[in-house]
Amino acid sequence: MDHFLYRDGTLYAEDVPITEIAAAVGTPFYVYSTATLLRHFRLFDEALEGIDHLVCYAMKAASNQAILKTLAKAGAGMDVVSVGEYLRARAAGVPGDRIVFSGVGKTEDEIRTALTGGIRQFNVESEPEMEVINAVALDLGVVAPITVRVNPDVDAKTHAKIATGKSENKFGIPIARASEVYAHAARLPGLEVVGIDVHIGSQLTDLEPFRLAYAKVAELTERLRAEGHDIRRLDLGGGLGIPYTRSNEAPPLPVEYGAMIKETLGHLGCEIEIEPGRLIAGNAGLMVSRVIYVKSGEGRDFLILDGAMNDLIRPAMYEAHHDIDPVQEPAPGTERRPYDIVGPVCETGDTFAKQRNMPPMAAGDLIAFRSAGAYGAVMASEYNTRPLIPEVLVKGDQFAVIRPRPTFDEIINRDTIPEWV
Ligand SMILES: *Cc1c(COP(=O)(O)O)cnc(C)c1O
Repeated sequence: MDHFLYRDGTLYAEDVPITEIAAAVGTPFYVYSTATLLRHFRLFDEALEGIDHLVCYAMKAASNQAILKTLAKAGAGMDVVSVGEYLRARAAGVPGDRIVFSGVGKTEDEIRTALTGGIRQFNVESEPEMEVINAVALDLGVVAPITVRVNPDVDAKTHAKIATGKSENKFGIPIARASEVYAHAARLPGLEVVGIDVHIGSQLTDLEPFRLAYAKVAELTERLRAEGHDIRRLDLGGGLGIPYTRSNEAPPLPVEYGAMIKETLGHLGCEIEIEPGRLIAGNAGLMVSRVIYVKSGEGRDFLILDGAMNDLIRPAMYEAHHDIDPVQEPAPGTERRPYDIVGPVCETGDTFAKQRNMPPMAAGDLIAFRSAGAYGAVMASEYNTRPLIPEVLVKGDQFAVIRPRPTFDEIINRDTIPEWV
């Protein structure tokens, strides 16, 4: 559920007409709904009620500081995957002891910055990384809290580019080697082992892969405890999928996910961390774009937009589907017709949708890409020297630009030309 609904024939973000934002900031832009962000965060928080837990928002999904602060004020921790994200979370006011640091290639500098600034835990992905964290911690005279990310070798049944829990993926250590790796960690004086971490992929639409993975984590918890490790925290990763189409079968709800967690892991008495990203931000954001031209081709019509693959890359990168709606609601009974909906970039991959049924559209019309809040703005680039598009946050009847559109001068002046050119 989200807060982007039609009122009197116009699409609104909460109590603000999209047309009003478009007039104020120009197109294309991203717009997020505070109420939707908070609703999704609370669904997870409530799903884990009754057990000690922390919902660490995976900020790579949408990392604007206004979004981070909104969620942190509601009680969220953060899951970061780079020192840039760590510093961004800190700048948004998130305390270090509510930030977990994930990622397969943390550098020594990144580890040093996080250890100096304060961190809840590192989710360690390899033995070489463990050695580096230990060395940095000893150098700083501190002890680094860690979990080890285990790879449970389960098939997440999602898009291959975002499946992470099979043994052939680059993530984590094989669960079969866990005893050895935990024994290694226990010998390193700069580390304090606090738990186990697992994350099997993104956009999962079925609970079964999670259940399989978490059952393996439960077994491993008992085994590692028997081997003398104080396993008191389980980080279960993110990955719960969202409905990208209205017609789609609905993915499991956070409440069902939470019940499954309690069922598989509740008896262990561990603190539970989860790292949802997409489900919190995905349906809390739209990308709004304007039709520049309607072009009639051989047997098909194209809607050419001012938004492109550099602004929202998911269709080009993952063959992702986004529902696309006109901002002006068509009159009931309006006949729909198929359009190919494309951006202006010189690549055939710059296609958002093929033969999508829409009401008749004209140049100047606004359209909204739904479910664009996660992995949208954060994956944007300035390919074709197209400026990063603005982000807008709505709360009730207020809206604010939370990242302005850069000027062309700002973009162009970032280059420096050596004297000898
Ligand atoms: C990407 C990622 C997440 C978030 O995944 P979503 O599908 O957005 O919920 C959480 N944890 C880790 C380690 C990740 O890499």
